[in-house]
Amino acid sequence: MHYDIVIIGGAIVGSSVAYYLREEGFSGSIALVERDPQFSHAATTLSCASIRQQFSIPENIRLSQFTLKLFRRLKEEFGADADIGFREGGYLILAGENGLPILRANHEAQMAEGADILLEDAEALVRRFPWLSVEGISAGAYGRSGEGWFDAHAMLMLFRKALRSKNIDFITASVTGIERQGKRVAGVTLDNGERLEAGTVVNAAGPNAGKVAAMAGLALPVEPRKRNVFVFEAREKYEDMPLLVDPSGIYVRPEGSVYITGGAEPEEGEGPADPADFDADWPLFEEVIWPVLAGRIPAFEAIKPTRAWVGHYDYNTLDQNAVIGPHPEVGNFLFANGFSGHGLQQAPAVGKALAELIVHGGYRTVDCSAFGYSRIADGRPFRELNVI
Ligand SMILES: Cc1cc2nc3c(=O)[nH]c(=O)nc-3n(C[C@H](O)[C@H](O)[C@H](O)COP(=O)(O)OP(=O)(O)OC[C@H]3O[C@@H](n4cnc5c(N)ncnc54)[C@H](O)[C@@H]3O)c2cc1C
Repeated sequence: MHYDIVIIGGAIVGSSVAYYLREEGFSGSIALVERDPQFSHAATTLSCASIRQQFSIPENIRLSQFTLKLFRRLKEEFGADADIGFREGGYLILAGENGLPILRANHEAQMAEGADILLEDAEALVRRFPWLSVEGISAGAYGRSGEGWFDAHAMLMLFRKALRSKNIDFITASVTGIERQGKRVAGVTLDNGERLEAGTVVNAAGPNAGKVAAMAGLALPVEPRKRNVFVFEAREKYEDMPLLVDPSGIYVRPEGSVYITGGAEPEEGEGPADPADFDADWPLFEEVIWPVLAGRIPAFEAIKPTRAWVGHYDYNTLDQNAVIGPHPEVGNFLFANGFSGHGLQQAPAVGKALAELIVHGGYRTVDCSAFGYSRIADGRPFRELNVI
């Protein structure tokens, strides 16, 4: 079977690429190959489903702003019943004395991109959020609008549902091999023994992207990194509570009537995770997270953890940023990988960008050149400083 485009991975990134290919007028054949059609282990459905403008580099801010615009006109795009439960609760990123210069520099970059972020000192923060302890805090950056959280599964289903009428072949299988013929990839082999010839192959395999690239003989420094998310109940309900990021890296936000928290994994010295490990590391909650929460929000001294889940970041070990676009030598192999914890909010923009590249031969809406593979080949990091 021949396809003009084979997309490996059918979660948010793969589905978005397929969706925008059709939106951009691509009329060739498309196969979307997914090994786990329930998405029970995908980063997409195991994520914290939050969106922010508070990045350090303008390119990342622009990707999120594209998605934000999509959220604002969701019904226009996907129909009157489209709803992803977007709650515009904001982020609050706190900094102590040491982190203040970076917080300020990031804030300037965000303001230059038109983001609605307030930089406030400790006193102003306590006036705004009386439940907050500002011990050791110099300032905080609060997203007054354009940031918040939503339902990741609902967002994925919107894209997948929209694809049903767009003449896409959904193939349930695992890609186990990629054929290379010199400077081209020629097709993929599946675990059911089938072979798909491909004009172009798109790697949208999330945390497994490094392994998929390796099948084509290409190096991609993307690996799974285990991330725990803990759910807890508290007596106090803070309706105004944003997604709060403590200087320690621990984050917490409301989720309906409960709260979710995480960010305790030490990145330093961390290696690739076992992709089959989805067991929660409860000591991280008890020994690392809880003391930080109780210090930052005194009422959280008394909370009740109820459950936890684990997902894997699609972690780019070079610079914690996405790798987008073709391989410079194997030009019909395209990357959409390595989002390192911010890929859900970037997926619509990246799908649109790759579709424009394939259909029109260049980026039109969001320029993703800075995310190109050449920096990987050169070992030249394009670093995002706000990795949460
Ligand atoms: C705990 C956690 C919290 C996060 N929080 C946020 C957040 O708040 N905001 C945000 O923007 N991002 C967040 N992220 C990151 C975000 O979830 C990911 O960057 C994004 O979902 C990546 O999407 P994807 O489609 O590339 O990968 P995935 O969702 O992992 O999908 C990849 C798909 O490829 C399939 N696949 C892989 N290999 C093969 C193969 N060989 N053959 C066939 N199919 C294959 C997999 O089955 C999978 O369904 C978080 C991630 C985690 C783990």
